[in-house]
Amino acid sequence: GKSTLVQELRSVERNLDFSISYTTRAPRGSAENGREYHFVSHEQFEKMIAGDELLEYAEVFGNYYGTARSTLRDSFANGRDLLLDIDVQGAEQVRRRVPEAISIFILPPTPEILKMRLTNRSRAEGKVDDAVIERRLAEARQEIGNYRKYKYVLVNDVLPRAVDELSAIVKAERYLHEGDDLSRKGVQKETDVDPAWHESLAAARVRPYREAVGVPFSSQPAHG
Ligand code: 5GP
Repeated sequence: GKSTLVQELRSVERNLDFSISYTTRAPRGSAENGREYHFVSHEQFEKMIAGDELLEYAEVFGNYYGTARSTLRDSFANGRDLLLDIDVQGAEQVRRRVPEAISIFILPPTPEILKMRLTNRSRAEGKVDDAVIERRLAEARQEIGNYRKYKYVLVNDVLPRAVDELSAIVKAERYLHEGDDLSRKGVQKETDVDPAWHESLAAARVRPYREAVGVPFSSQPAHG
């Protein structure tokens, strides 16, 4: 899953912190407080919202999840990059508030696995009716439909390859933003890729997943 990906990436790329989110969801299995998540009460979380302590937060499957501003501040102060594993709503907020953030849309190994997860989640909640499953699919359709807002699309199928690709992204982005500090202000590198090329590559990766959740081929953009 994504946590293995993050772990492997951090073992090959140095100076990369992982942001431990705050959540109101209950710990699962052997999850230790402060390692995967900071598990907090609803009340504590709402206090953080009221105190404007969160860089972003969202409600996912009925629970709050959020990133503390202090987490980003600490990494920045130490000259390190910070990796966030957050949902689409959170990513939207981060893009708005942290313009230099690089966003990567991570797709599950196959469209079938995506669909199975969506239907199994409903089953685990004891809701097998078609309406619930259709709602999950509609949510997924909407999420995946937003892939163009992300700079990269990555398929998390073969772990070593996904790690390599992520590592390449980190290296390239560090290269492009090297020297982005006050002393270099005003000096700009050419960083824009051809949007048509970028779109066709990303669209090809996303297409089977969109089809799995019910986006007809005809409604796809004309690229690729
Ligand atoms: P899980 O409960 O399975 O660990 O995570 C459920 C979802 O919440 C995942 O999509 C995960 O990326 C997202 N998530 C985890 N932490 C955060 C966070 O701090 N902010 C937001 N917006 N989403 C999060």
